[in-house]
Amino acid sequence: MPTLPFDFLFSQGSLQDYADCPRRFQLRYLLELAWPAVAAEPADEFEARVAQGEAFHRMAHQQVLDIRYATDALPLPEPLATWWANYFNRPPANLPAVRHPEMTLSAPLGEHRLVAKYDLIAVDPGRRAVIVDWKTSEKRPKAAWLVARFQTRVYRYLLVRAGAHLNGDAALRPEQITMVYWFANFPEDPERLPYDATQYAADEVRLSSLIAEIAGLDDDGFPLTGDLKRCLFCPYRSLCNRGAEAGELGAEDEDAVAAEEMRAAEPLTEFDFEQVAEVAF
Ligand code: SF4
Repeated sequence: MPTLPFDFLFSQGSLQDYADCPRRFQLRYLLELAWPAVAAEPADEFEARVAQGEAFHRMAHQQVLDIRYATDALPLPEPLATWWANYFNRPPANLPAVRHPEMTLSAPLGEHRLVAKYDLIAVDPGRRAVIVDWKTSEKRPKAAWLVARFQTRVYRYLLVRAGAHLNGDAALRPEQITMVYWFANFPEDPERLPYDATQYAADEVRLSSLIAEIAGLDDDGFPLTGDLKRCLFCPYRSLCNRGAEAGELGAEDEDAVAAEEMRAAEPLTEFDFEQVAEVAF
């Protein structure tokens, strides 16, 4: 018997977890198991980094809403102060003027729904849209790694599927969409990822087939990953008997550290359907 709830909402985070490790998907999203292990060592440093990343996202959101921070009156700790200065001095270039911060979009895909919460969508209606994702990781991920992430696939795909209301009620064409990863530690080196119809078609096949695959699994269909490196930064490693010690910040696998920082800032459970502001039926 398949175990996935009929109303399960797929996100880039859950699809990435399944692709990285099916057991991790099961523990996090089906069993909703909170496990107390820290993702990386030193724990204090990792948690501080995650907390400052969350603060940066809140500040960027509120700044777009024109809630200004009197940073002279309230000095920020490092590295938040540097990130905030970079945000003002080296923001993503050439963004359209209409800004939608913290936008959530959703669309049906197969028997389930796909949902994404964007840091920022900037639109020039009828012409183009730019998805901006703020990244505060210490390392700058490689372009190929970002291209392969489910975040890149899901965000661009879903904006075509569910973004018409941001574009004068006309669906955006893939070629009108660009995704920009902006790095608070590397403001001079954002990653710009344009989209096209070929990528869109490939994303639809990949996302649909993966959702159908997961939906067809029973309880025994979620094996542990064979790639032990993925366990180094996973909070479930003691549960899985994959070691008690966390990986170290600054370790060789920079991308894994960056991914865990991103994951740590996301909620344990899937989206509450009531939080989905815009739904394409
Ligand atoms: S510890 Fe390893 S096997 Fe267990 S859930 Fe995490 S990544 Fe998967």
